[in-house]
Amino acid sequence: MSESANFAVTRPGAPVLEPGHVWLAGAGPGDPGLLTLDCLAGLTQADVVVHDALIDPRVLAMAGPRARLEFAGKRAGKPSSAQADISKRLIALAREGLRVLRLKGGDPFVFGRGGEEALSLAQAGVPFRIIPGITAALGAMAAAAIPATMRGVNRAIVFAAGYGADQVAGHDWAALAKTGAPIVLYMAMQNLGSIAEELIKGGLAADTRVAAIGSATMADQTILVSTLARAAADLRAADIPTPVIFVIGDIVTVREQLLQAARSPER
Ligand code: SAH
Repeated sequence: MSESANFAVTRPGAPVLEPGHVWLAGAGPGDPGLLTLDCLAGLTQADVVVHDALIDPRVLAMAGPRARLEFAGKRAGKPSSAQADISKRLIALAREGLRVLRLKGGDPFVFGRGGEEALSLAQAGVPFRIIPGITAALGAMAAAAIPATMRGVNRAIVFAAGYGADQVAGHDWAALAKTGAPIVLYMAMQNLGSIAEELIKGGLAADTRVAAIGSATMADQTILVSTLARAAADLRAADIPTPVIFVIGDIVTVREQLLQAARSPER
């Protein structure tokens, strides 16, 4: 075992992944440096790691040498494993007496179906633990120098899923617009144009800033700053790497202030 992996399990208070238990863990937004020590402890102790598509290979490489890696996510061109099948698989692996790490991108409880999996495990009587991770919104905002909250700018923040915007069960975008809080959109690549229109109809100014942060925290991270009125067209022209997080609101201007101040510090 490498020294760092050893530390992950020997540090005081490190949790022990028992045979027959499942940990639902978040790997953060991409950069392996954003992994928690508890997640690393899970990786080094697991007999089997059941992971999603967005997990960086460098993170998977931290699994112990005997660990089996099982893919259980969406992959382009192939049907995704049905959620019920994934839950059944986790239960079956635990009942075999294996130490199971269910590894998801970001945080398992933020738009990650972690809640459903936890419920299935609980109903099946399988012991489990939740290991939080840095969710893409917070990882991407930090990487783009956009504070999540700042005195004088905002005292609330909205995390919303942008998928399903045109469905009846979609959000009340006008209500979200009225809060005046920055809106951070996950899974919004397809619907950004219609969401922006709804937000403008709901009262946000057409020149409200939008930051698109693609492949956040990774080597190919790309940041595009636009406005609500222009974001969808700018995005089509820019060919930004996926996945993408969108930050909508005045808080985005703090990025420009920070970059400007860093370029010409007061000495
Ligand atoms: N559970 C995850 C979210 C899963 S939904 C979390 O807490 O982060 C998948 C969406 O997350 C993507 O459509 C994208 O909007 C966002 N996302 C995940 N990783 C990202 C990254 N490295 N950069 C930008 N967006 C990311």
